[in-house]
Amino acid sequence: MLEALIAALAVIICAVVWCAASNTDKPETEPAPEPVYAHTVVLDPGHGGEYPGCVRDGTEEKSLTLEICNRIRERLDDSSVGVIMTREEDATVSLDERCETANASGAALFVSIHANSFTDESVSGLESYFCKGSESGRALSDTVLAHAERAGIAVRYSREGDYQVIRDTKIPAILIETGYMTNPAELERLRSEEYQSLLAEAIAGAIIEYLGSAE
Ligand SMILES: [Zn+2]
Repeated sequence: MLEALIAALAVIICAVVWCAASNTDKPETEPAPEPVYAHTVVLDPGHGGEYPGCVRDGTEEKSLTLEICNRIRERLDDSSVGVIMTREEDATVSLDERCETANASGAALFVSIHANSFTDESVSGLESYFCKGSESGRALSDTVLAHAERAGIAVRYSREGDYQVIRDTKIPAILIETGYMTNPAELERLRSEEYQSLLAEAIAGAIIEYLGSAE
């Protein structure tokens, strides 16, 4: 009888201990919520996959554009601006798909990144394009040019351009030709981490200024 009582008691104690233990085993931390950004922007690394863009001395435009966009993204991330990329790897993405991403994003603006080429190797400098009639595009484009110039980047102009990704996107949109791959000195700069970071800093700074003034 006593043995049976002890055995029953032991079972009860075990159950209490197990319950207490299993209670403390419950995860105390909720899964981290998705970050809430006041602003989101779409970055569009030009070309990709089967379309390398300009190829010069073993450097492909599609790689430069992705590297520069990743640096802009890092900089915007530090400023709590959310970023959507039209591609995050070496993938083939059509111009239609890039516009669809922008138009479905609910983002504040769209920035397409490219590198230029020309028959005359002496031509160099950054150019920024906006769609004809888009005052918001013009404002963003002019801001990019001003920030680049202030950073000591060689610039050419900010002006209207007829590119599908800025024509068919329904949010303020620009296309930046970061520099000429056909100019040997500029190609060397475009390949360097320091210059890519300088470009990213200037472009991200312009985006942040534009977002602040558009509020
Ligand atoms: Zn291009």
